[in-house]
Amino acid sequence: MAFVVTENCQRCRFTDCVDVCPVDCFHAGEDMLYIDPEECIDCGACVPECPVEAIYDEAQLPDDMQKWVEINAEKAKSLPVINESGEPLPTAEARKKELGF
Ligand code: SF4
Ligand code: SF4
Repeated sequence: MAFVVTENCQRCRFTDCVDVCPVDCFHAGEDMLYIDPEECIDCGACVPECPVEAIYDEAQLPDDMQKWVEINAEKAKSLPVINESGEPLPTAEARKKELGF
């Protein structure tokens, strides 16, 4: 089991989650982040940090989001590790509003 980043992170990438992660399990794609399930130690520290509630415990992932388990595992293999927060994408604030946060 691991934690999983889902679609709310797309076009957002606030990266608040990255600073609290005790291990290097976040990987940065162009429009969102992914968690490497091999590295994640299931601490849950990242969940309350995400302003758009994009991160789930795999065990509590809703049925319509199950695809993200595989996507996180696959994407994390090839994308670079990100372990410091950076500038959110320019679309982040608009996306956050659109999502109702
Ligand atoms: S804080 Fe949430 S939206 Fe931002 S990068 Fe992390 S998972 Fe994505
Ligand atoms: S659950 Fe913990 S180890 Fe896993 S991604 Fe979140 S902060 Fe990192």
